[in-house]
Amino acid sequence: MPKKQMATAPRDLLIGTTNLAKGRELRELLQPYGFQIRTLQDIDNPINVVEDGDTFAANAQKKAREFAQSFNCWVLADDSGLEVHSLGGAPGIYSARFAGGEEASDELNNEKLLRELAEVVWERRGANYYCHVAVADPTGAIRAESSGICRGKIRTEPAGSNGFGYDPLFEVLEYHQTFGQLGPKVKAALSHRARAMRAIVPQLATLATSGAWQ
Ligand code: IMP
Repeated sequence: MPKKQMATAPRDLLIGTTNLAKGRELRELLQPYGFQIRTLQDIDNPINVVEDGDTFAANAQKKAREFAQSFNCWVLADDSGLEVHSLGGAPGIYSARFAGGEEASDELNNEKLLRELAEVVWERRGANYYCHVAVADPTGAIRAESSGICRGKIRTEPAGSNGFGYDPLFEVLEYHQTFGQLGPKVKAALSHRARAMRAIVPQLATLATSGAWQ
C-alpha cells in the first residue's frame, strides 16, 4: 500500500473515523489533553478500512493499524456499538448496519430495534453501549488500548434529538433520560466513548513523555 506523506508533529493524533458526530465527540474529549487532533475529514482521499473483525477490539485495532500505516502517523480508532441483553448482545458489532447493509440509517436501525423489542417488558430492556479504543504508532503497532461501557435501557419510543445513532432510545441509568434528551455535556461525562477515552489518556501521556511520539 503506497504511503501518503504526512508529517507527524509531536503529539499529533489522527482520529480514524468517517462518522462526523463521533469525530466531533472524540476531538472534544481529547483536545483538552494537549493532543493536536485531526480526523479523516481533514485528509484528502482517506482509505476505506473494512470492519470485518469478530469483535469491537479487532475492528478498532484494524482501523488504527491500517490508517497509521497508510498516513504514517499516530492514529486513534474506536469501534463501538449497542448491546441489548434480551437480544443476546445484538446489534453489537453490527450496530451501524442493523437494519441491513448500506441501506441502514439511524432511523431505520432505531425502528428495527423497537420492532425486535416490541414484546419485551421494561424490566428486560437493559442494554449497554460499548466502546473499544486502540492507538497505533506510525508503523502500525498497537501501543495503547482501553474500553468503556455505559449502562442503560431501551425506551419504547424515541425522546430527544441530541447525539446520533441509538441515542434517542437509550435511557441512561444514572439520569432516567435518553442521551437524545441529555445533550453533549452529559454525554461527554458518561458515555462509553468518554470512559474509554479517560482510560486511554494516561497511557497516551506516558507514551508521549517517554519520547515514543517521534
Ligand atoms: P462504528 O462507527 O463502527 O463504531 O459503529 C458505531 C455504530 O454503533 C453507530 O453507527 C451507531 O449505530 C452505534 N453507536 C456507537 N456509539 C454510539 C453512540 O454514542 N450513540 C448512539 N449510537 C452509537
